[in-house]
Amino acid sequence: MTIAFISDLHLTPDRPHSTEMFTTFASGARKYLNGLYILGDLFEYWIGDDGVSALGHESTEAAIRSVVDSGVPVYFLHGNRDFLVGEQFAKRTGCQLLPDPVVVEEDGLRILLTHGDALCTDDIDHQTARKQMLTSKWKLAFLNNPLESRFETADQMRKQSAVAKKTKSMEIMDVNQSAVEAMMKEHQVDIMIHGHTHKPAAHEFEIDGKLARRYVLGDWYEQKSLILLDQGKLTLRR
Ligand code: MN
Repeated sequence: MTIAFISDLHLTPDRPHSTEMFTTFASGARKYLNGLYILGDLFEYWIGDDGVSALGHESTEAAIRSVVDSGVPVYFLHGNRDFLVGEQFAKRTGCQLLPDPVVVEEDGLRILLTHGDALCTDDIDHQTARKQMLTSKWKLAFLNNPLESRFETADQMRKQSAVAKKTKSMEIMDVNQSAVEAMMKEHQVDIMIHGHTHKPAAHEFEIDGKLARRYVLGDWYEQKSLILLDQGKLTLRR
């Protein structure tokens, strides 16, 4: 019984190596996994389910489909880059879309899963943009644009984000510990897994005198980062 958690692959045709790593990982997943959770930012950006060929992500969709078809359930939770992944993607790949955050029960553990950007409450600009873009009004307006103009908007947003990142401190872009504890308390869990910050680690702390753990996944720029759940034990592989 092995469950894997991954996030922040940021797949884009600009970095074919990452896509290859994922395809290879998917081949192994079919044989060795009993479940796969993708915690957002699988894609560098997503401009709508109808843009899959324009974005060059057919092979990634096929890889997920092959995992699902082999009998391994795949769950997908949105990141801030691929929050427009929708029902058509789910239908084509066979994956199940999950809300963010969500509590899952696997191997006797209750685990809170979230992409992680909602925890970066010190990054006011990001939170403001996030609030706006997650409204169905914004999403519908965006998706109603022709593909080409969606491409342009996504490209502009990526550039703005790269510029903004340079001016923000590491602390501002990391999770806020109070936000972490508040979310864990609200969902009555002592284990949380998230990505987004690209700072793979296993953090231990106390909530109301009880041990709590927060696992952070890393990105897939150079190598794959994953968390495995095996016999009730979580292991982070950078
Ligand atoms: Mn992210």
